[in-house]
Amino acid sequence: MATKQHIIVIGAGVLGLSCAFQLSKFGYAVTIIARDLPVDLSVAYASPWAGAHFRPIPITTPAESIEHGFVTQTSSRFAALAANNPSAGIAFVRGVEYFDAPSAKYTDLDPAMGFCTSSEFRALRPDELPGGGSGNIKWGCEYEAWVLNSPVYLAWLERHLQLEGVVIVRRTLSAIEEAVFVARAELGKPDLEPLAVVKASGMGFADPECFPSRGQFLLVSNPCKETISHHWADGTSTVIIPRPLSGGTLIGGSKEEGNWSQEPCAKTTAAILKRVSELCPEMLTPPVNNPEGPPALHLLKTNVGRRPMRRGGLRV
Ligand SMILES: Cc1cc2nc3c(=O)[nH]c(=O)nc-3n(C[C@H](O)[C@H](O)[C@H](O)COP(=O)(O)OP(=O)(O)OC[C@H]3O[C@@H](n4cnc5c(N)ncnc54)[C@H](O)[C@@H]3O)c2cc1C
Repeated sequence: MATKQHIIVIGAGVLGLSCAFQLSKFGYAVTIIARDLPVDLSVAYASPWAGAHFRPIPITTPAESIEHGFVTQTSSRFAALAANNPSAGIAFVRGVEYFDAPSAKYTDLDPAMGFCTSSEFRALRPDELPGGGSGNIKWGCEYEAWVLNSPVYLAWLERHLQLEGVVIVRRTLSAIEEAVFVARAELGKPDLEPLAVVKASGMGFADPECFPSRGQFLLVSNPCKETISHHWADGTSTVIIPRPLSGGTLIGGSKEEGNWSQEPCAKTTAAILKRVSELCPEMLTPPVNNPEGPPALHLLKTNVGRRPMRRGGLRV
C-alpha cells in the first residue's frame, strides 16, 4: 500500500478542523496541532462562540471574490453533511435581512456582485418589511442560510477525525516551521517531510495583518425558526441565530475592533435584549415556571469572543 502524503494543520477551530476533515477524506495523512481544542473555552478561540450563520455579502474586492468561491463550495459541503449527518449540528433555514440605510452595493442586484445569487434569494416587497416599509427599515431580502451549532459541530469533527486516525496534538507554536518538528516528535518520524502546512490559527501568530473584533452575544432559550439580521443606519447590527439540535438561540451582537475586554458589558446586554424584543416580539415567551408571567427573552449565558479579522482579507 502506498504511503499517504502528510499534511499538518495548525489550528482546531472551525477552519482547521473542517480543512483537516476534507484533507483526510481526500486521502492525506493529517496531523493537527493547536493550542485550543473543542473542549476549551477561551476568548481567543473564536469558533465555539460563533453564531454561526451564513450571510451573503456583495463582492467589491478581489479578496471577496475569492471568498465567494469558498462560500459556494462550503454551501454544497454543508448541505451534504446536514443531509447525511444530523448530529453534526448543521441546518439550513430561511435567512432574513433588513436594512435601515441600504447602500447600492446591496440593492443593486447585479448577479456579478454575488449577493443575490444565494439559494432562494428574493428581495422583500415593502409590505413584507416590519413597519410595512414606512418605518426605519427601508429594504430587506431573504435567502437560504446555513446555521451551525458550533460547539456541536467542532466536537463532531474532532470525533470523526480521531476515528479516521488523524493525530491531534495540543501545543502552542511560535513559528510555522515549529509545527514540522512537533509532528516529527509526536509521530516518532524524525524524517517526516510534510507536503504542506496549513495555517488556520485564527488570530494566531506570525501575521501582522490580523486583529481582533470583540463580539458579545447572548444565548437565550427562546426558539426561533429563522436567522434574522437587522442593519441599523449607525452601522451596528442586530442578529438572531437559531442553534440547531435544540441549542437555543444566539442573539447579538457587538462588533468592536480594538476592544480587548473579556468581560461582558451590562449595557451591551441590555441593548441587545431591547433590540431583539422590538425586532422579533413573537420570540418572547412567559417564563417556563410561570406560564402567567410576562413574555420575555430568557437569558442562559452571555458570551464574549474575539473574531479573527485580517486586513486585505484571508490569505491562502
Ligand atoms: C461572538 C461571535 C459571533 C460570531 N458569529 C459568526 C457568525 O454568525 N457567522 C460567521 O461566519 N462567523 C461568526 N463569527 C466569526 C467566527 O467565529 C470566526 O470567523 C471563526 O470561528 C474563525 O475560525 P478559525 O478556525 O479561523 O479560528 P479559531 O476558532 O480562533 O481557531 C484558531 C485555532 O488556532 C489555534 N492557535 C492559535 N494560535 C496558536 C498557536 N500559537 N499555536 C498553536 N495553535 C494556535 C487556536 O488554539 C485554535 O485552535 C463569530 C465570532 C464571534 C466571537
